[in-house]
Amino acid sequence: MDLFGGYNPSLSRLTVVSQKENLYHFPIVCNQCENAYCLNVCPAGAITRDTSGIVVIHKDKCIACGLCIEYCPIRVVVRDPETGKAFKCELCRGTPLCVEACPTGALELVSKHTPKGKIDE
Ligand code: SF4
Ligand code: SF4
Repeated sequence: MDLFGGYNPSLSRLTVVSQKENLYHFPIVCNQCENAYCLNVCPAGAITRDTSGIVVIHKDKCIACGLCIEYCPIRVVVRDPETGKAFKCELCRGTPLCVEACPTGALELVSKHTPKGKIDE
């Protein structure tokens, strides 16, 4: 799986937050929300949910308005530095490479809800 045409950790959409005072580290990543604000606000119909429940941004439809970036409550949508279009974690379309790469097994892919709303055909 190669979504960006090469290996580039800076394009990872998983951020590790460190609370140094209590030595607590935790990853923040798109929750594929049941009520996905990013999907709801996109004026171009560029964000949909696939049959697996993954919230997907379609680059070809994105007009780079930035609304999904503003409305995501945990701020996990960013702009592609080259195109200005939005991108976020899409679970590598079902097989997250971060989970495979984690040397300690700290990451696990789990299903937490049954998605509602429009599903891609
Ligand atoms: S980008 Fe934000 S609002 Fe959209 S599904 Fe992910 S966490 Fe939810
Ligand atoms: S930046 Fe793109 S994906 Fe995000 S709301 Fe605007 S058109 Fe939709």
